[in-house]
Amino acid sequence: MIKQLFATLCAGIFMAGSHSSPLLHADEKASPRVLIMLGPPGAGKGTQAALLQQKTHLPHISTGDLLRDHVRQETELGKKAKTFMSGGQLVPDQLIMDMLFDRVSQPDCAQGYILDGFPRTLTQAQALQEKLQKQTKPLVINLELEDAEIIERLSKRVTCEQCGTPYHLAYSPPKIKDECDKCRGKLIQRSDDHRDVVIKRLKVYHEQTAPLIRFYNKLNILHSVSCKQSKEQVFTQILGKLN
Ligand SMILES: [Zn+2]
Repeated sequence: MIKQLFATLCAGIFMAGSHSSPLLHADEKASPRVLIMLGPPGAGKGTQAALLQQKTHLPHISTGDLLRDHVRQETELGKKAKTFMSGGQLVPDQLIMDMLFDRVSQPDCAQGYILDGFPRTLTQAQALQEKLQKQTKPLVINLELEDAEIIERLSKRVTCEQCGTPYHLAYSPPKIKDECDKCRGKLIQRSDDHRDVVIKRLKVYHEQTAPLIRFYNKLNILHSVSCKQSKEQVFTQILGKLN
């Protein structure tokens, strides 16, 4: 009870001072269902979000895809993002939020949506919460996996250079060494998956995510699921949290 009161107070403090612009009008009949997927690289966030999309028919919104689409279509936001990306800088929070809030205001998101890769920072989480506050209570799924397991998974992941199909040298190896089963393309290790890069990505992930976990925990909407099981088992557990 006290914990909940504290969460409400904190949420109030976080939101004070910034203007409110509701995602949906109050007269919308059903409140949209918003699912937020959190989890380290390699935990299978994208895979689970895709399974959830099939099951719920809610659109799966990946911030990475959204960003790439904007850049490819050379939208105003895309052009701005590109200047940061080509300079090797992170795309600023505000730009990511502009893209995301534009996307979730599309008609296909009226019933809800599944977020993958957003929020990544506390600022983003607070802004999203402010958008949603009266209309809906999101459900946050936190996929958990130990660092050692992530490093093991990612450093043994290879990807087809031609069609992008991922393989895992231990769990799902190709039939022929270094060759894609589907298109016979060459299998390479993405630079993102090199062991030293994975360790750096995880450090950034933990630094950014710890405050998010605390934020959602205080709001009592965080549900953790261990990923140290098959993707089917993980999915079954996620569905259990939804119902
Ligand atoms: Zn291939």
